[in-house]
Amino acid sequence: MNIVHIASEIAPIAKAGGLADVVLGLARSFKTLGHNVSVILPKYSFLSSSKISSKKVSSFSFTIYEKTYSNQIYVTEVEDISVYLIEPDSNDFFKGDKIYQGKPKKDTIRFTYFSKAAVEYLNTKQDPIDVIHLHDWHSSLVAPLIHLQNKDTKPKIVLTVHNLSYQGKCRFAFLQNIGIPAPKVEPFSVRKYNLFKRACLLKGGILYSDATVLVSPSYAKEIFTKSKACGLLSFLKKQRHKIQGILNGIDNTIWDPEKDEALPFKYSKNLSINEILLARRKNKEHLQKKLGLNVKDVPLIACVSRLASQKGPKLIRRGLLYAAKKDSQAILLGSSSTHFLQKKFETLAQKYKANRDIHFHFQFDDELSRLIYGSADFLIVPSYFEPCGLAQLIALRYGCVPIVRKTGGLKDTIFDINDSVPGEQKNGFTFQSFTPRALLFTIDRALHQHFKDRCKTLVENGMRMNYSWEKSASEYLKIYTQKT
Ligand code: ADP
Repeated sequence: MNIVHIASEIAPIAKAGGLADVVLGLARSFKTLGHNVSVILPKYSFLSSSKISSKKVSSFSFTIYEKTYSNQIYVTEVEDISVYLIEPDSNDFFKGDKIYQGKPKKDTIRFTYFSKAAVEYLNTKQDPIDVIHLHDWHSSLVAPLIHLQNKDTKPKIVLTVHNLSYQGKCRFAFLQNIGIPAPKVEPFSVRKYNLFKRACLLKGGILYSDATVLVSPSYAKEIFTKSKACGLLSFLKKQRHKIQGILNGIDNTIWDPEKDEALPFKYSKNLSINEILLARRKNKEHLQKKLGLNVKDVPLIACVSRLASQKGPKLIRRGLLYAAKKDSQAILLGSSSTHFLQKKFETLAQKYKANRDIHFHFQFDDELSRLIYGSADFLIVPSYFEPCGLAQLIALRYGCVPIVRKTGGLKDTIFDINDSVPGEQKNGFTFQSFTPRALLFTIDRALHQHFKDRCKTLVENGMRMNYSWEKSASEYLKIYTQKT
């Protein structure tokens, strides 16, 4: 099959969160199966020639907003996958050092342009495309644009929703300028508090795709409840026939503690548990020195996360401060595009600057995240909702025990030491209630087991689990090949 992903992120060159890992992992697993896979991405100005090597392969132009835009296409290889980068001649659309600018209006302009340009670019290609795979609202507009084309055969459109709470809303007129007539926009419009009607791009993607995938079975069920439907409940119910959940995987060759260059002491699940723990302890020492923490052998509790309200910032803060007071240490590696949350955490970091048992790091730092996964004893993920979550899967692979709230993909992948599941499935600590009390109680339980040496089995079980892409890819394959 000829499969084209259209996305806003791909790891490692343009990554803000798990979406980037998923696009790369899914693309690679289908390439391994012998399919022809490519990815289309904006050529953000931070993807300059000094950062990546790319070559110009074609150019095309189209007219919107009564203006003609010329574009260049560059190609670069990312882990064997051909990534086609769209660069408008007047590169205002993709300027700046971030993928998401945190300003809804600017981001909508950025990604509606990108979606339109991606479709126009595909129109210039001769080879037939079997599947166009879209990701989140950023490329959702491609679905109605393809749907409206007057062609005998059309590719299958698959949309993966990584997070229903980001929907991309814009003015009606905006889409008419792009070439979608008002009656076609109407079914994916939203109206809130009697304000002007707006187009909801994610809704358009779901409506005009052949199949919509949510990134875990539990999340695919939760979105049919009022609290998790993000205002789309009645719409989603009507689309239920085409919605399903497929758990994300991780790429075991990219996340591999045996080969990870960020780890001074590498290890694999084939070593004895004592050898694994020894390597991890030495990594911890290295991490403590690197971050200026006290060098001592105490439990280390970490959080590697975007700082967004979905992730439970209050619980993260309470959990880490609690850990630092309990004869253990805490690290936060957090990045945020939400200004007020970032500020709140920065104030906290300032307050604890002199405390050498807690460390805050506010950057997107892939290398540091790897060292944390390879050193920390526990990773907290106290999310209010979590479509899938990759951090806990990476943690398992590196032998770091997850402490998570039972929601979405966390519920599907982490099983508490006290759950009534077969012994080899127990791999962490879970709690239900979205309260600091529930989290702190669970941290206490985890520390208690740690000191009694009973976490060793959890480490072993976690490292033996296989959350690679194979199984998930076979489920996507069924969707790709199903007759519509
Ligand atoms: P989300 O996609 O909602 O942000 P996931 O758990 O699905 O959450 O994926 C997060 C991914 O981003 C993981 O690979 C995690 O290691 C990485 N990550 C999150 N924050 C940072 C950061 N500040 N620095 C480096 N990596 C990060």
